[in-house]
Amino acid sequence: MRILVTGGAGYVGGFAARHLLAAGHEIAVVDNLSEGHRASIPAEHFYEGEIADRALVARVIREHDIEAVMHFAAFAYVGVSMERPREYYRNNVADTLTLLETMLDSGVKRIVFSSTCSTYGETAEMPLCEDSLQQPSNTYAFTKYCIERMIQDFSRAYGLSHVLLRYFNAAGAAADGSYGEDHRPETHLIPLVLQTLLGQRDKVSVFGDDYPTPDGTCIRDYIHVEDLATIHALAIGWCGDAKPGRGQVFNVGTGSGSSVMEVIRAAESVTGRAVPHEIVARRAGDPPRLVASCDKARRELGWEPRYVALKDIVATAWKWHEKHPDGYPDEDRDGGKPE
Ligand code: UDP
Repeated sequence: MRILVTGGAGYVGGFAARHLLAAGHEIAVVDNLSEGHRASIPAEHFYEGEIADRALVARVIREHDIEAVMHFAAFAYVGVSMERPREYYRNNVADTLTLLETMLDSGVKRIVFSSTCSTYGETAEMPLCEDSLQQPSNTYAFTKYCIERMIQDFSRAYGLSHVLLRYFNAAGAAADGSYGEDHRPETHLIPLVLQTLLGQRDKVSVFGDDYPTPDGTCIRDYIHVEDLATIHALAIGWCGDAKPGRGQVFNVGTGSGSSVMEVIRAAESVTGRAVPHEIVARRAGDPPRLVASCDKARRELGWEPRYVALKDIVATAWKWHEKHPDGYPDEDRDGGKPE
């Protein structure tokens, strides 16, 4: 297919874009490089710009005869979203509305959207199924929830076929260490642990050890970024075959959870080095346990994650961090990112 990838220079978007290229699809990436990295996408597929730039997006759609959109572009820092909600509603919700309008005006009616398990919020029900109650508990999650609803409404009214993918914790890197995770600031556990092992940080702060989990630390479902890429390709294929107005929602995780301490132990076992860490206070808003039920994606898309062992996921991330301790080249970072 011919696919417009918004945010395709970012972490998950970049892996999905490169996977689509390798699978023989034609892609055009639109990314404003506020968070993404030019080096992660071949230049001939890349357009620097805003998804809300109607003229740019319409031109890319026209010139590439685009049939479907994969929409990754978004701000994704929970803490910043609570402090500066207007930026999150503008960038995530309002700009997606503009993107959807441009798609409709250009006759493109297929979309795969990057949503998040954090739209479920705190719930006792585990593992989380696609029809579990959604109660987003922070602004970032609420913007993703708004977009889900907007796409579903547009689907019903204007015949968009769509897939909403609710990711659990994206992690890992290319097996050869060529591409990986580079957020600034970095807030995610696995890169923070690996940066500590590289001596770039003194120690890892473990946010609370008094949760109702076996070792007292929070449990998350870590899903390898290449497995996320493969489900995007399957999802876009589903949209291609679907009747207008049809939609699907899939959780994307492995179905098994790992605690913060298990992540630290996995990194120690991969590298043979001890991870300096200290237990600190809980981080506000962290649910004790988030684990996906992924039966639906297996059943309906035939998707199967290749990486199921946490150690294997961490090993790929370590390869990237060891080879690229400073991440991607810096020249395009424009200071527009959240502090
Ligand atoms: N975490 C931690 N120390 C850190 C960063 C994260 O203990 O410096 C914990 C966090 O509380 C959560 C888990 O690691 O339980 C994963 O956090 P991350 O920010 O990577 O992803 P999230 O689950 O918040 O999307």
